[in-house]
Amino acid sequence: MQYDALVVGAGYAGAITARRLAEDGGKKVLVLERRPHVAGNAYDCPDAAGVLIHQYGPHIFHTNDRRVFDYLSRFTKWRRYQHRVIANLPRDNPEVVPAHKTTDGRFFFPVPFNLDSMKNAFGMEEGKRLGQKLLDAYPAQSQVTILELRQNPDPEIAAIADYVYEHVFVHYTMKQWGQKPEDIDPNTTARVPVRLSRDGRYFQDAYQGMPLEGYTPMFERMLDHPNITLELNTDALKRLKLEDGRILLDGEPFGGTVIYTGQADELFGFRFGPLPYRTLDFGFETLPQDAFQTHGTVNYTVDQPYTRITEFKHLTGQEKPDATTIMKEYSKACTGADGEIPYYAIINPENNALYAKYQAEADKFPGLRLLGRLAEYKYYNMDAIAARALTLTDGML
Ligand code: FAD
Ligand code: UDP
Repeated sequence: MQYDALVVGAGYAGAITARRLAEDGGKKVLVLERRPHVAGNAYDCPDAAGVLIHQYGPHIFHTNDRRVFDYLSRFTKWRRYQHRVIANLPRDNPEVVPAHKTTDGRFFFPVPFNLDSMKNAFGMEEGKRLGQKLLDAYPAQSQVTILELRQNPDPEIAAIADYVYEHVFVHYTMKQWGQKPEDIDPNTTARVPVRLSRDGRYFQDAYQGMPLEGYTPMFERMLDHPNITLELNTDALKRLKLEDGRILLDGEPFGGTVIYTGQADELFGFRFGPLPYRTLDFGFETLPQDAFQTHGTVNYTVDQPYTRITEFKHLTGQEKPDATTIMKEYSKACTGADGEIPYYAIINPENNALYAKYQAEADKFPGLRLLGRLAEYKYYNMDAIAARALTLTDGML
Protein backbone atom coordinates (compact mmCIF):
# COMPACT_ATOMS: atom_id res chain seq x y z
CA MET A 1 0.00 0.00 0.00
CA GLN A 2 1.25 3.50 -0.84
CA TYR A 3 0.75 6.08 1.87
CA ASP A 4 0.59 9.86 1.52
CA ALA A 5 1.36 10.52 5.15
CA LEU A 6 3.00 8.78 8.06
CA VAL A 7 1.93 9.69 11.58
CA VAL A 8 4.06 8.51 14.49
CA GLY A 9 2.04 8.22 17.71
CA ALA A 10 -1.69 7.85 18.32
CA GLY A 11 -2.18 10.43 21.10
CA TYR A 12 -3.95 13.76 20.55
CA ALA A 13 -1.32 15.12 18.16
CA GLY A 14 -1.22 11.97 16.03
CA ALA A 15 -4.90 11.00 16.06
CA ILE A 16 -6.20 14.46 15.15
CA THR A 17 -3.70 15.02 12.33
CA ALA A 18 -4.34 11.52 10.97
CA ARG A 19 -8.09 12.03 10.96
CA ARG A 20 -7.90 15.44 9.29
CA LEU A 21 -5.48 14.34 6.58
CA ALA A 22 -7.55 11.21 5.94
CA GLU A 23 -10.99 12.78 6.05
CA ASP A 24 -10.54 16.36 4.89
CA GLY A 25 -7.45 15.79 2.73
CA GLY A 26 -8.42 12.42 1.25
CA LYS A 27 -4.91 11.16 2.06
CA LYS A 28 -3.94 7.59 2.81
CA VAL A 29 -2.43 7.74 6.29
CA LEU A 30 -0.33 5.18 8.14
CA VAL A 31 -0.31 5.58 11.93
CA LEU A 32 2.38 3.75 13.88
CA GLU A 33 2.01 3.51 17.64
CA ARG A 34 4.57 1.90 19.91
CA ARG A 35 2.15 1.09 22.72
CA PRO A 36 -0.50 -1.65 22.53
CA HIS A 37 -3.24 1.01 22.58
CA VAL A 38 -4.32 4.39 21.20
CA ALA A 39 -4.91 7.69 23.10
CA GLY A 40 -1.32 8.35 24.23
CA ASN A 41 -1.14 9.49 27.82
CA ALA A 42 -4.89 10.08 27.89
CA TYR A 43 -5.48 6.31 27.65
CA ASP A 44 -8.06 4.89 30.06
CA CYS A 45 -9.25 1.34 30.67
CA PRO A 46 -11.01 -0.76 33.32
CA ASP A 47 -8.66 -2.22 35.94
CA ALA A 48 -8.90 -5.74 37.40
CA ALA A 49 -11.77 -4.65 39.65
CA GLY A 50 -13.66 -3.07 36.75
CA VAL A 51 -12.93 0.53 37.82
CA LEU A 52 -12.23 2.86 34.88
CA ILE A 53 -8.73 4.23 35.48
CA HIS A 54 -6.30 6.55 33.71
CA GLN A 55 -3.15 4.49 33.23
CA TYR A 56 -0.82 7.50 32.79
CA GLY A 57 -2.21 9.98 35.32
CA PRO A 58 -5.50 11.78 35.83
CA HIS A 59 -6.81 13.58 32.72
CA ILE A 60 -9.57 16.17 32.96
CA PHE A 61 -10.64 17.91 29.79
CA HIS A 62 -11.06 21.69 29.85
CA THR A 63 -10.84 24.38 27.20
CA ASN A 64 -11.96 27.83 26.13
CA ASP A 65 -11.39 26.87 22.51
CA ARG A 66 -14.75 26.28 20.90
CA ARG A 67 -13.22 24.76 17.80
CA VAL A 68 -11.35 22.12 19.80
CA PHE A 69 -14.42 21.29 21.84
CA ASP A 70 -16.59 20.98 18.72
CA TYR A 71 -14.03 18.87 16.91
CA LEU A 72 -13.67 16.35 19.76
CA SER A 73 -17.44 16.35 20.28
CA ARG A 74 -17.76 14.62 16.91
CA PHE A 75 -16.20 11.56 18.52
CA THR A 76 -17.66 11.60 22.01
CA LYS A 77 -20.51 12.76 24.19
CA TRP A 78 -19.47 14.40 27.42
CA ARG A 79 -20.11 13.91 31.09
CA ARG A 80 -20.38 17.28 32.83
CA TYR A 81 -17.63 17.43 35.39
CA GLN A 82 -15.85 20.32 37.08
CA HIS A 83 -12.67 19.29 38.83
CA ARG A 84 -12.20 20.44 42.43
CA VAL A 85 -9.01 19.92 44.38
CA ILE A 86 -8.23 20.37 48.05
CA ALA A 87 -4.91 20.50 49.82
CA ASN A 88 -4.51 18.06 52.72
CA LEU A 89 -1.82 19.15 55.18
CA PRO A 90 -0.80 18.91 58.83
CA ARG A 91 -2.13 21.63 61.15
CA ASP A 92 0.77 23.78 62.23
CA ASN A 93 -1.25 26.25 64.30
CA PRO A 94 -3.68 24.51 66.70
CA GLU A 95 -5.03 27.89 67.92
CA VAL A 96 -6.63 28.66 64.58
CA VAL A 97 -10.17 27.32 64.18
CA PRO A 98 -10.58 26.55 60.49
CA ALA A 99 -13.91 27.25 58.79
CA HIS A 100 -14.14 23.60 57.66
CA LYS A 101 -14.07 20.39 59.66
CA THR A 102 -10.67 18.87 60.31
CA THR A 103 -9.55 15.36 61.24
CA ASP A 104 -6.49 13.65 62.68
CA GLY A 105 -4.51 16.84 63.22
CA ARG A 106 -4.79 17.64 59.54
CA PHE A 107 -6.78 20.27 57.68
CA PHE A 108 -7.90 21.11 54.18
CA PHE A 109 -8.46 24.07 51.93
CA PRO A 110 -9.41 24.53 48.28
CA VAL A 111 -6.61 24.72 45.69
CA PRO A 112 -6.13 27.09 43.88
CA PHE A 113 -5.86 29.04 47.15
CA ASN A 114 -8.89 31.38 47.28
CA LEU A 115 -10.91 33.49 49.72
CA ASP A 116 -12.41 30.34 51.28
CA SER A 117 -8.95 28.79 51.66
CA MET A 118 -8.01 31.93 53.56
CA LYS A 119 -10.72 31.28 56.18
CA ASN A 120 -9.56 27.72 56.66
CA ALA A 121 -5.95 28.72 56.98
CA PHE A 122 -6.37 31.73 59.28
CA GLY A 123 -9.78 31.15 60.94
CA MET A 124 -13.10 32.77 60.08
CA GLU A 125 -12.56 36.36 61.27
CA GLU A 126 -8.88 36.75 60.46
CA GLY A 127 -9.40 34.97 57.13
CA LYS A 128 -12.14 37.42 56.20
CA ARG A 129 -10.04 40.41 57.20
CA LEU A 130 -7.00 39.23 55.26
CA GLY A 131 -9.22 38.39 52.28
CA GLN A 132 -10.45 41.98 52.31
CA LYS A 133 -6.85 43.15 52.46
CA LEU A 134 -6.15 41.24 49.24
CA LEU A 135 -9.34 42.59 47.66
CA ASP A 136 -8.15 46.13 48.43
CA ALA A 137 -4.93 45.41 46.58
CA TYR A 138 -6.17 43.37 43.58
CA PRO A 139 -9.42 43.42 41.58
CA ALA A 140 -12.19 41.10 42.81
CA GLN A 141 -12.43 37.87 40.75
CA SER A 142 -8.89 38.37 39.45
CA GLN A 143 -6.01 36.00 40.07
CA VAL A 144 -2.39 36.54 40.90
CA THR A 145 0.51 34.14 40.68
CA ILE A 146 2.39 33.18 43.82
CA LEU A 147 5.59 34.69 42.44
CA GLU A 148 3.81 38.02 41.83
CA LEU A 149 2.15 37.96 45.24
CA ARG A 150 5.53 37.50 46.89
CA GLN A 151 6.67 40.78 45.31
CA ASN A 152 3.96 42.79 47.09
CA PRO A 153 5.64 45.27 49.48
CA ASP A 154 2.73 45.43 51.99
CA PRO A 155 3.92 43.43 55.04
CA GLU A 156 0.53 41.77 55.67
CA ILE A 157 0.17 40.73 52.03
CA ALA A 158 3.76 39.52 52.07
CA ALA A 159 2.84 37.39 55.11
CA ILE A 160 -0.11 35.87 53.21
CA ALA A 161 2.20 35.21 50.25
CA ASP A 162 4.71 33.51 52.56
CA TYR A 163 1.94 31.37 54.01
CA VAL A 164 0.70 30.27 50.58
CA TYR A 165 4.24 29.71 49.34
CA GLU A 166 5.01 27.49 52.34
CA HIS A 167 1.68 25.63 52.53
CA VAL A 168 0.80 25.23 48.85
CA PHE A 169 3.84 25.61 46.65
CA VAL A 170 7.31 25.02 47.98
CA HIS A 171 7.08 21.42 49.18
CA TYR A 172 4.78 20.25 46.38
CA THR A 173 7.03 21.86 43.78
CA MET A 174 10.13 20.29 45.36
CA LYS A 175 8.43 16.89 45.14
CA GLN A 176 7.26 17.44 41.57
CA TRP A 177 10.32 19.16 40.10
CA GLY A 178 13.14 18.75 42.62
CA GLN A 179 13.42 22.55 42.52
CA LYS A 180 11.86 25.55 44.25
CA PRO A 181 9.03 27.55 42.64
CA GLU A 182 11.33 30.50 41.90
CA ASP A 183 13.78 28.21 40.08
CA ILE A 184 11.34 26.61 37.61
CA ASP A 185 9.57 28.10 34.58
CA PRO A 186 7.16 30.71 36.06
CA ASN A 187 4.39 29.53 33.71
CA THR A 188 4.27 26.28 35.67
CA THR A 189 3.19 27.68 39.05
CA ALA A 190 1.08 30.27 37.19
CA ARG A 191 -1.20 27.34 36.23
CA VAL A 192 -2.40 27.36 39.85
CA PRO A 193 -2.78 31.06 40.80
CA VAL A 194 -4.12 32.62 44.00
CA ARG A 195 -7.76 33.57 43.39
CA LEU A 196 -9.50 36.74 44.56
CA SER A 197 -12.83 34.94 44.58
CA ARG A 198 -14.55 31.95 46.14
CA ASP A 199 -14.44 29.91 42.92
CA GLY A 200 -13.29 26.48 44.12
CA ARG A 201 -12.99 24.87 40.69
CA TYR A 202 -9.53 23.81 39.55
CA PHE A 203 -10.19 25.14 36.04
CA GLN A 204 -12.33 28.08 34.97
CA ASP A 205 -12.64 27.20 31.28
CA ALA A 206 -15.94 27.51 29.44
CA TYR A 207 -15.99 23.83 28.37
CA GLN A 208 -15.11 21.20 30.96
CA GLY A 209 -15.91 17.54 31.21
CA MET A 210 -14.95 13.95 30.67
CA PRO A 211 -15.61 11.85 27.55
CA LEU A 212 -18.78 10.00 28.51
CA GLU A 213 -17.43 6.49 27.81
CA GLY A 214 -13.79 7.42 28.37
CA TYR A 215 -10.90 8.80 26.30
CA THR A 216 -9.99 5.53 24.60
CA PRO A 217 -13.33 5.07 22.77
CA MET A 218 -13.09 8.71 21.62
CA PHE A 219 -9.68 7.99 20.06
CA GLU A 220 -10.86 4.70 18.57
CA ARG A 221 -13.64 6.56 16.77
CA MET A 222 -11.28 9.28 15.61
CA LEU A 223 -8.91 6.74 14.09
CA ASP A 224 -11.68 4.65 12.57
CA HIS A 225 -11.61 5.90 8.97
CA PRO A 226 -11.16 4.00 5.70
CA ASN A 227 -8.10 6.10 4.80
CA ILE A 228 -6.33 5.36 8.09
CA THR A 229 -4.23 2.26 8.72
CA LEU A 230 -3.27 1.88 12.37
CA GLU A 231 -0.48 -0.41 13.53
CA LEU A 232 -0.13 -0.82 17.29
CA ASN A 233 2.90 -2.33 19.08
CA THR A 234 5.06 -0.77 16.40
CA ASP A 235 8.12 1.33 17.08
CA ALA A 236 8.30 3.74 14.15
CA LEU A 237 12.02 4.26 14.70
CA LYS A 238 12.59 0.68 13.54
CA ARG A 239 10.86 1.52 10.22
CA LEU A 240 11.79 5.15 9.66
CA LYS A 241 15.27 6.39 8.71
CA LEU A 242 16.34 9.99 8.29
CA GLU A 243 19.44 10.15 6.09
CA ASP A 244 21.05 12.99 4.14
CA GLY A 245 17.87 15.02 3.92
CA ARG A 246 15.90 11.94 2.79
CA ILE A 247 13.19 10.06 4.64
CA LEU A 248 13.10 6.27 4.27
CA LEU A 249 10.15 4.12 5.31
CA ASP A 250 10.86 0.39 5.41
CA GLY A 251 14.02 1.06 3.43
CA GLU A 252 12.22 2.88 0.57
CA PRO A 253 12.31 6.66 -0.01
CA PHE A 254 9.14 8.20 1.41
CA GLY A 255 7.92 11.37 -0.33
CA GLY A 256 4.88 12.01 1.85
CA THR A 257 4.47 14.05 5.00
CA VAL A 258 5.72 12.65 8.31
CA ILE A 259 4.09 13.91 11.50
CA TYR A 260 6.25 12.78 14.38
CA THR A 261 4.81 13.06 17.92
CA GLY A 262 7.46 11.14 19.92
CA GLN A 263 10.59 12.49 21.62
CA ALA A 264 12.70 14.78 19.42
CA ASP A 265 16.00 13.63 20.97
CA GLU A 266 15.18 9.96 20.38
CA LEU A 267 14.34 10.63 16.72
CA PHE A 268 17.93 11.79 16.17
CA GLY A 269 19.61 9.10 18.27
CA PHE A 270 20.22 11.51 21.20
CA ARG A 271 23.10 12.95 19.16
CA PHE A 272 23.25 16.19 21.17
CA GLY A 273 22.47 14.46 24.48
CA PRO A 274 19.14 13.58 26.08
CA LEU A 275 16.52 16.26 26.74
CA PRO A 276 15.80 16.34 30.51
CA TYR A 277 12.39 15.15 31.67
CA ARG A 278 10.52 14.30 34.87
CA THR A 279 8.83 10.94 35.04
CA LEU A 280 6.20 9.60 37.45
CA ASP A 281 5.66 6.39 39.36
CA PHE A 282 1.98 5.68 39.87
CA GLY A 283 0.80 3.80 42.95
CA PHE A 284 -2.62 2.30 42.17
CA GLU A 285 -4.67 0.80 45.01
CA THR A 286 -8.11 -0.75 44.74
CA LEU A 287 -10.13 -0.65 47.95
CA PRO A 288 -13.25 -2.71 48.78
CA GLN A 289 -15.40 0.37 49.47
CA ASP A 290 -17.52 2.87 47.57
CA ALA A 291 -15.43 5.97 48.20
CA PHE A 292 -12.03 6.93 49.59
CA GLN A 293 -11.89 10.73 49.56
CA THR A 294 -14.21 13.72 49.15
CA HIS A 295 -12.65 15.13 45.97
CA GLY A 296 -11.39 13.83 42.63
CA THR A 297 -7.87 14.90 43.55
CA VAL A 298 -6.34 15.72 46.93
CA ASN A 299 -2.95 17.45 46.87
CA TYR A 300 -0.49 16.68 49.68
CA THR A 301 1.13 20.08 49.64
CA VAL A 302 3.40 19.81 52.69
CA ASP A 303 4.19 16.21 53.63
CA GLN A 304 4.05 12.67 52.15
CA PRO A 305 6.40 11.46 49.41
CA TYR A 306 3.66 11.63 46.75
CA THR A 307 2.22 14.85 45.33
CA ARG A 308 -1.44 13.93 45.03
CA ILE A 309 -4.05 11.19 45.28
CA THR A 310 -6.71 10.88 42.60
CA GLU A 311 -9.84 8.77 42.99
CA PHE A 312 -11.07 8.03 39.49
CA LYS A 313 -14.75 7.46 40.24
CA HIS A 314 -15.17 11.17 41.03
CA LEU A 315 -13.91 12.01 37.53
CA THR A 316 -15.70 9.34 35.58
CA GLY A 317 -18.95 9.24 37.58
CA GLN A 318 -18.79 5.45 37.55
CA GLU A 319 -21.20 3.88 40.05
CA LYS A 320 -19.65 0.88 41.74
CA PRO A 321 -20.40 0.55 45.46
CA ASP A 322 -18.09 -2.43 46.04
CA ALA A 323 -14.79 -0.97 44.84
CA THR A 324 -12.85 2.21 44.21
CA THR A 325 -9.37 2.76 42.79
CA ILE A 326 -7.03 5.53 43.90
CA MET A 327 -3.67 6.55 42.53
CA LYS A 328 -0.69 8.25 44.18
CA GLU A 329 1.82 10.14 42.02
CA TYR A 330 5.56 10.07 42.80
CA SER A 331 7.75 12.28 40.64
CA LYS A 332 11.43 11.77 39.85
CA ALA A 333 14.04 12.71 37.25
CA CYS A 334 14.17 10.62 34.08
CA THR A 335 17.41 8.66 33.98
CA GLY A 336 16.93 7.08 30.58
CA ALA A 337 16.30 3.65 32.15
CA ASP A 338 14.26 1.20 30.08
CA GLY A 339 10.51 1.60 30.43
CA GLU A 340 10.70 5.08 31.98
CA ILE A 341 8.13 7.40 30.41
CA PRO A 342 9.06 11.08 29.96
CA TYR A 343 5.99 12.94 31.24
CA TYR A 344 7.09 16.53 31.83
CA ALA A 345 9.62 18.55 29.84
CA ILE A 346 11.80 20.61 32.18
CA ILE A 347 11.45 24.00 30.54
CA ASN A 348 14.41 26.35 31.06
CA PRO A 349 16.72 28.32 28.75
CA GLU A 350 19.42 25.64 28.69
CA ASN A 351 17.02 22.82 27.84
CA ASN A 352 15.20 24.96 25.27
CA ALA A 353 18.56 25.61 23.58
CA LEU A 354 19.23 21.87 23.47
CA TYR A 355 15.78 21.30 22.01
CA ALA A 356 16.46 23.96 19.34
CA LYS A 357 19.36 21.83 18.07
CA TYR A 358 17.00 18.91 17.49
CA GLN A 359 14.44 21.19 15.89
CA ALA A 360 17.15 22.46 13.51
CA GLU A 361 17.93 18.85 12.54
CA ALA A 362 14.25 18.23 11.84
CA ASP A 363 14.10 21.36 9.68
CA LYS A 364 16.56 19.71 7.28
CA PHE A 365 13.75 17.35 6.23
CA PRO A 366 11.05 19.38 4.45
CA GLY A 367 8.44 16.62 4.78
CA LEU A 368 8.93 16.17 8.53
CA ARG A 369 6.89 17.98 11.20
CA LEU A 370 7.43 17.71 14.95
CA LEU A 371 4.12 18.00 16.81
CA GLY A 372 3.10 17.28 20.39
CA ARG A 373 4.08 17.54 24.02
CA LEU A 374 7.15 15.34 23.50
CA ALA A 375 8.12 16.32 19.96
CA GLU A 376 7.94 20.05 20.74
CA TYR A 377 9.26 19.75 24.31
CA LYS A 378 6.34 21.78 25.67
CA TYR A 379 3.91 21.65 28.63
CA TYR A 380 0.75 21.30 26.52
CA ASN A 381 -2.64 20.50 27.99
CA MET A 382 -4.86 18.26 25.87
CA ASP A 383 -6.78 21.17 24.37
CA ALA A 384 -3.61 23.06 23.51
CA ILE A 385 -2.14 20.18 21.54
CA ALA A 386 -5.51 19.53 19.90
CA ALA A 387 -5.58 23.18 18.78
CA ARG A 388 -2.01 22.88 17.44
CA ALA A 389 -2.96 19.76 15.49
CA LEU A 390 -5.97 21.49 13.94
CA THR A 391 -3.93 24.56 12.97
CA LEU A 392 -1.05 22.52 11.55
CA THR A 393 -3.39 20.49 9.38
CA ASP A 394 -5.24 23.66 8.26
CA GLY A 395 -1.95 24.70 6.69
CA MET A 396 -1.50 21.32 5.01
CA LEU A 397 -4.97 20.90 3.51
P1 FAD B 1 1.20 11.68 23.94
O1 FAD B 1 -0.12 11.53 24.56
O2 FAD B 1 2.43 11.45 24.77
O3 FAD B 1 1.25 10.73 22.67
C1 FAD B 1 2.44 10.43 21.98
C2 FAD B 1 2.32 9.00 21.47
O4 FAD B 1 3.43 8.73 20.59
C3 FAD B 1 2.39 7.96 22.58
O5 FAD B 1 1.27 7.10 22.50
C4 FAD B 1 3.69 7.22 22.31
O6 FAD B 1 3.62 5.84 22.65
C5 FAD B 1 3.83 7.41 20.81
N1 FAD B 1 5.22 7.26 20.35
C6 FAD B 1 6.32 7.92 20.80
N2 FAD B 1 7.41 7.51 20.13
C7 FAD B 1 6.99 6.57 19.23
C8 FAD B 1 7.65 5.77 18.27
N3 FAD B 1 8.98 5.83 18.08
N4 FAD B 1 6.91 4.92 17.51
C9 FAD B 1 5.57 4.83 17.68
N5 FAD B 1 4.90 5.55 18.59
C10 FAD B 1 5.61 6.42 19.35
N6 FAD B 1 -3.91 17.61 29.98
C11 FAD B 1 -5.11 18.16 30.22
O7 FAD B 1 -5.65 18.91 29.38
N7 FAD B 1 -5.80 17.88 31.38
C12 FAD B 1 -5.28 17.06 32.34
O8 FAD B 1 -5.91 16.84 33.37
C13 FAD B 1 -3.99 16.50 32.11
N8 FAD B 1 -3.44 15.70 33.05
C14 FAD B 1 -2.20 15.19 32.82
C15 FAD B 1 -1.63 14.40 33.82
C16 FAD B 1 -0.36 13.87 33.64
C17 FAD B 1 0.26 13.04 34.73
C18 FAD B 1 0.35 14.12 32.43
C19 FAD B 1 1.73 13.57 32.22
C20 FAD B 1 -0.21 14.90 31.43
C21 FAD B 1 -1.49 15.45 31.62
N9 FAD B 1 -2.10 16.23 30.64
C22 FAD B 1 -3.33 16.79 30.88
C23 FAD B 1 -1.42 16.51 29.35
C24 FAD B 1 -1.80 15.50 28.26
O9 FAD B 1 -1.35 14.21 28.64
C25 FAD B 1 -1.11 15.93 26.95
O10 FAD B 1 -1.52 17.22 26.57
C26 FAD B 1 -1.41 15.02 25.78
O11 FAD B 1 -1.34 13.66 26.10
C27 FAD B 1 -0.42 15.32 24.66
O12 FAD B 1 -0.70 14.54 23.53
P2 FAD B 1 0.46 14.15 22.53
O13 FAD B 1 -0.18 13.48 21.37
O14 FAD B 1 1.32 15.33 22.27
O15 FAD B 1 1.41 13.14 23.33
N1 UDP C 1 1.56 23.33 42.40
C1 UDP C 1 1.90 23.37 43.74
N2 UDP C 1 0.97 22.96 44.67
C2 UDP C 1 -0.26 22.53 44.32
C3 UDP C 1 -0.59 22.48 42.95
C4 UDP C 1 0.36 22.88 42.01
O1 UDP C 1 3.02 23.73 44.09
O2 UDP C 1 -1.05 22.18 45.19
C5 UDP C 1 2.58 23.78 41.41
C6 UDP C 1 3.57 22.67 41.09
O3 UDP C 1 4.82 23.27 40.78
C7 UDP C 1 2.94 22.05 39.85
C8 UDP C 1 2.40 23.28 39.15
O4 UDP C 1 1.95 24.13 40.20
O5 UDP C 1 3.88 21.34 39.09
C9 UDP C 1 1.30 23.03 38.15
O6 UDP C 1 0.26 22.31 38.77
P1 UDP C 1 -0.79 21.44 37.91
O7 UDP C 1 -1.78 20.89 38.85
O8 UDP C 1 -1.28 22.27 36.79
O9 UDP C 1 0.17 20.29 37.35
P2 UDP C 1 -0.13 19.01 36.43
O10 UDP C 1 -1.55 18.61 36.65
O11 UDP C 1 0.17 19.43 35.03
O12 UDP C 1 0.86 18.00 36.94
